[in-house]
Amino acid sequence: GLLVVLACSSPKKSFVTENNRDAIDKKVDSVLALMTLEEKVGQMNQYNGFWEVTGPVPKDGAAALKYEHLKKGWVGSMLNVKGVKDVKALQKIAVEETRLGIPVIFGYDVIHGYKTISPIPLAEAASWDMEAIKKSAEIAAAEAAASGLNWTFAPMVDVSRDARWGRVMEGAGEDPYLNSQIAVARVKGFQGDFGEFNVAACVKHFAGYSFAESGRDYNTVDISNNTLHNIVLPPFKAALEAGALTFMNSFNELEGIPATGNPYLQREILKGQWNFKGFVVSDWGSLGEMVSHGYAKDLKEAAERAANAGSDMDMESYGYVAHLTALVREGKVSEDKIDDAVRRILRVKFTLGLFDNPYKYCDETREQQTIGKKEFQDGVLDMAKKSIVLLKNDNNLLPLKKEGLKIAVIGALANDKTSPLGSWRIGADDGTAVSVLEGLQNYKGNRISYAKGADVAIGQTVFASETHINTTDKSGFTEAISTAKGADVVIMVLGEHGLQTGEGRSRASLDLPGVQQELLEEVYKVNSNIVLVLNNGRPLTIPWAAQHIPAIVEGWQLGTQSGNAIAQVLYGDYNPSGKLPMSFPKSVGQLPLYYNHKSTGRPGNGQPTESVFWSHYIDEQNAPLYPFGYGLSYSKFEYSNFKISASSFGKGGNITVSVDVKNISNVDGKEVVQLYIRDLVGSVTRPVKELKGFELTEIKAGQTKTVTFTINEKTIEFYTANNKWEAEPGDFKVYVGTNSDTRTELPFSYITN
Ligand code: BGC
Repeated sequence: GLLVVLACSSPKKSFVTENNRDAIDKKVDSVLALMTLEEKVGQMNQYNGFWEVTGPVPKDGAAALKYEHLKKGWVGSMLNVKGVKDVKALQKIAVEETRLGIPVIFGYDVIHGYKTISPIPLAEAASWDMEAIKKSAEIAAAEAAASGLNWTFAPMVDVSRDARWGRVMEGAGEDPYLNSQIAVARVKGFQGDFGEFNVAACVKHFAGYSFAESGRDYNTVDISNNTLHNIVLPPFKAALEAGALTFMNSFNELEGIPATGNPYLQREILKGQWNFKGFVVSDWGSLGEMVSHGYAKDLKEAAERAANAGSDMDMESYGYVAHLTALVREGKVSEDKIDDAVRRILRVKFTLGLFDNPYKYCDETREQQTIGKKEFQDGVLDMAKKSIVLLKNDNNLLPLKKEGLKIAVIGALANDKTSPLGSWRIGADDGTAVSVLEGLQNYKGNRISYAKGADVAIGQTVFASETHINTTDKSGFTEAISTAKGADVVIMVLGEHGLQTGEGRSRASLDLPGVQQELLEEVYKVNSNIVLVLNNGRPLTIPWAAQHIPAIVEGWQLGTQSGNAIAQVLYGDYNPSGKLPMSFPKSVGQLPLYYNHKSTGRPGNGQPTESVFWSHYIDEQNAPLYPFGYGLSYSKFEYSNFKISASSFGKGGNITVSVDVKNISNVDGKEVVQLYIRDLVGSVTRPVKELKGFELTEIKAGQTKTVTFTINEKTIEFYTANNKWEAEPGDFKVYVGTNSDTRTELPFSYITN
C-alpha cells in the first residue's frame, strides 16, 4: 500500500465542492503518474464476485484468473460481493498485495433496500413525497454501507411508458418531470455527504433502455432525437446536477449504435455538454453484447469501440482486461482516453474516502449494529403507507370498522411473505415481509378467515421456465367461495408474484396472472362486498374489477412492512394519498400509453368525436382506465378559485398561478396538487399536457389551503428545432388538478419582443 500512505493527508469528509475538486484532481494525478498501462487498464475492469472467503482460494477456472488479476492490481471494482468479512478480505488483497495498493470499489444493486426492504421504486414514486423517498434511499445506503458496499447501481431513471416491460417496477414511471425530482431525491439519499453511511449512486441506464420495442426487455430501441432529449434525458441530467458520481450505460442500441459504444451519448452529451466528472460503467456484459448486436466483429473490437466511445469501466465482459493494453499499443485507443477514464474512476474513489481508509466500509461492529435497525423498519413502514394508492372506494366501503366484522381474506398473495419484497432484494431472505394476512391479524376486533383460492404462479419462487408461469389450478375455488359467503366483507389480495416483474420479466398480457380473474368473478357472485388489494410491480389491466368491485387499493410490492402498511390503510389508521406514476391501461393493446402524448393531425385530439377519422381503435377506447397522477383519499378535496397573476410574461419574468383546495370531508388528509401546461404551437410538436409542478400538502378536515406555483422560462423550455433547450414565445395553457385528466385551465403567453 504505497498509495494509502501517500493519500492520507486528505480531510475526513470528502464532500466534493468546486473548491476541493481541484485538490482531489491533484491527488488523482499524483496516483496516475505512478501507474503502468496495465494497471490503468486494470482500474477499468470490474469483476463479478468470485470468491467467498470462507471457501478455499480459487485454484482454477475463471475464479483463479480473477484472483490473479486482483493481486496484480488489474481489478478496479467488484460487484455482487457483500458482507464486511468478504469485502474486507478482498480489499486487503488489493491494498496490501498489489504494487500500488489502490482500493477496490464494491458495487451492488441496492435498489430498494438492502435487508430492510422498502417499496419497489415504482411504488415509492406513487408517494410523490420527495422527503420520504430520500429517507428511504438513506436507509438503503446505511445498511449497504455497513455491509462493506460503497456503490449502488441505482437509481434507475428510465422513463417508462410501456407496462409490459418488467423493469417499470424499478423506476419512477412515465413522466420525465416526476422522474427527475425523484432521481434527485434518491441520489441525495444514497450519497449524502459521502460519510460512512453513504454510497455512490449510479444513474442508469444511459440511455433509452425503457423504450425496448413491444416492452420486451433487451429488445431494439428506435426513438427520435426529440424523444431522447425531451423525455429520456432530463432525469439523467437532474441526477447529474444532484451530484451523482457514476452512470451506467445500457444494453440497447440507439440510432443503430449500442449505448456502450455510443460516443454521442457518452462523450458528446454526458461528458461534453453536461460536463460529467464521474465515470461510466458498462451494463453487465454489454461490451461483449456489441458483438451480438452486430456492431463489433469480436470482443477486441468491442473493447476498442467502448473505450473510444467513453465507457470507462467494463462490467464483467473481460473485454478491457483482455484487449485494451494491446489496443493502446496498436494505436487504436489513445492513452489519453485511458488516462481520462482512470482519472474518473480514481476521482470517485477519492471522493468516497477510500484512499483515506480503504476499510471505511468494513467495520464489523457497525455492520452488526446497523443492519435491520428498528428505526429502519419504521422508515420503510412509513414509506410503504405513503406509496399506497386508493383507486376506488364506492359507498365509503373503506376504511373498515375495527370491531364486529366477519372478514374473509382470499388470495395466495394475502399469505405471501416473499412476494412483497419484489425483485432486487440482495440482503433480505425470502419470507421476511409482513404479509397482508399478518397485518390484518394485528387488529383483534374482527374475525378473520382465510382461503388461498388460487396460486398466482407455478412454483411461487423463481421460475425455471419463462413460458408456463401461470397456474391453472382451480381446486381452491370451492373453499374460497364458501369462506366469502358468510363474510361481511371480503378482502381479496391479487396481483403478481414478486418475481413476475423486474429484469427479464416482460409480459405480453397485463391481466391478473393465472386464474385470479376467474376467482375474483366467482367470489363476487356470492359476495360483492369486496375490497380488492393489488400486489403488483406494474400497471395491470383490471377493467372488470374497476367496474364491479366497490373498493380497490393499489398495494404494489411494499417491502418488509407491506402487510402492516396495507392493514393500516384498510382500517383508516393511515389516510392514503398516493397517486399513480403510470397510467393504468384498459387493455394491453393500448400500450405504450402515457398522458403526455402528442396531439395527432386528426379531429378530436384523442377525445371521442362524431368523425370516424379520428385516431382511435374500433374495439377499445383511447383513455386509460386510471390516468397518470390519479389517486383517492378518505378525505374529499374541492378545487376552486384558480387564478393567474398575469396573462403573460417576458424574458426573465414569471407569473404565478394559485388554487384553493378545500378538504370538504371530516377526515384530515393529504393531497398532491398537480400543475400541467400545454404549449399550443412549437417549432416541433408538443405534448397535450406536461407535468411541471406538484405540491404534496396536508389539509385538515374543513380547512382550505391555497397552493401557488410559479411559471417562468424554465417551466416552458424544451428541446426545440434548433437542437437546444430554450423557451419559445407563444401561447400556452396551464392546468391544475387532482390528476392528469384535469380540465381546469387558464391561458397565458410568453412574449419576447
Ligand atoms: C442490469 C443492471 C444491473 C447489473 C448488475 C444488469 O443485468 O441491467 O441494472 O445493475 O445487471 O447486476
